[in-house]
Amino acid sequence: LSDKLDKALHVLKGHGSITEVNVAETLKEVRRALLDADVNFKIAKEFTVRVKEKALGQDVLTTLQPGQLMVKLVKDELTELMGGDAEGINLSGNPSVILMSGLQGSGKTTFSGKLANYLKNKKTKKPLLVACDVYRPAAIDQLHVVGDQIGVEVFSDKGNNDPVAISKAGIAHAKANGHNVVIIDTAGRLAVDEAMMTEISNIHKAIEPQETLFVVDSMTGQDAVNTAKAFNDILNFDGVILTKLDGDTRGGAAISIKSVVNKPIKFIGTGEKMEAIDVFYPSRMADRILGMGDVVSLVERAQEQFDEVEARKLQKKIAKNQFGFDDFLKQIQQIKKMGNMKDLVGMIPGAGKMMKDIDIDDDAFKGIEAIIHSMTPEERANPAVINSSRKKRIGKGSGTSVQEVNQLLKQFTQMSKMMKMMQGGGGKRMMQMMQN
Ligand code: GDP
Ligand code: MG
Repeated sequence: LSDKLDKALHVLKGHGSITEVNVAETLKEVRRALLDADVNFKIAKEFTVRVKEKALGQDVLTTLQPGQLMVKLVKDELTELMGGDAEGINLSGNPSVILMSGLQGSGKTTFSGKLANYLKNKKTKKPLLVACDVYRPAAIDQLHVVGDQIGVEVFSDKGNNDPVAISKAGIAHAKANGHNVVIIDTAGRLAVDEAMMTEISNIHKAIEPQETLFVVDSMTGQDAVNTAKAFNDILNFDGVILTKLDGDTRGGAAISIKSVVNKPIKFIGTGEKMEAIDVFYPSRMADRILGMGDVVSLVERAQEQFDEVEARKLQKKIAKNQFGFDDFLKQIQQIKKMGNMKDLVGMIPGAGKMMKDIDIDDDAFKGIEAIIHSMTPEERANPAVINSSRKKRIGKGSGTSVQEVNQLLKQFTQMSKMMKMMQGGGGKRMMQMMQN
């Protein structure tokens, strides 16, 4: 989608004014791009008509460049279509009950975990996860694995195959144990059918949740809209969760779903990891669709993951020349926690295209981690003691070559030097550069 819009908007660049002809030409491209992204035909058409009216009504010569104006018009309109300001979730109940709905494989269980983790990190919330997918024993296990990973309690009842009873028991358990948020993970089927709809509707009626969320895989395109409509007809849900927005952005689902069911998109899922969750901001999504990157999200995510206390400790160590491989390892873990590297890089304006052919993932760190793990505590704290016989031993232990060990040592030395330099004011400059 971004590529096509880039091209469409490019048509206008270099023109002195917006004439009816080049507006029409551009909007034809914009419409095609929207259709390609599975935006409903009618919605795409209405969209371009509105932008056209606005474009022709502007006195472009006195304000911005026509190309920029067009970008702004398309962006504002996209933002509007996806729904104004970001909306939070209702956590006013005690406990607040959040019900997940959606097809099998849409990402309900994963998102339940992400949301629990997100709320838990807010400190005032103590969530409980409730396993109501009773059809596959593996589904209950999956939620337990997620719960263990994020340190959130999971309520389940393996012998019981009545999801209404389990959800009620889960809420009672939450009340008795001081949980103020209950997240109910439910079963979905591969397609909308009566059995699934009856079941989710029964749970919904029985527990009267504060929030009913509809989880949808953004890669399912036009189908996502039909599914959303079917669930909304039964549940009148409060919000949409758009999952699997990592990699190639499919903004189309966001636009179409919002237009058809008129419910806010509240969160997006951008990866399989528990940290890959973002609040949905229509204007950022519009930026992303327009290929401008999502810098604000990127910066926020990085800040959230980076522990300030650790950062200060690290600064002291660098200043005293005590930065060692254990610290280096911690840094790698911080980076990995931020989610898939490619997602992050993809949010940088202009970098999205560049990254298409390059595959950076967590595996990139495997060799480095193996080498560091093969070092003794003394070697990690004071890399200077690593002589050639130690290098041989480390190489053998980590399944790498002496060259690779050498390379890491060299990189490490360079990095230590650079960090020391950044302490003296350079760091601030670098931050400024990143923010521009
Ligand atoms: P459920 O059947 O609705 O509970 O779906 P799951 O939570 O089990 O997710 C189905 C698959 O999608 C799993 O392999 C998840 O790891 C994966 N998944 C869920 N959310 C995301 C996401 O935001 N991005 C990516 N890439 N994968 C996801
Ligand atoms: Mg599930």
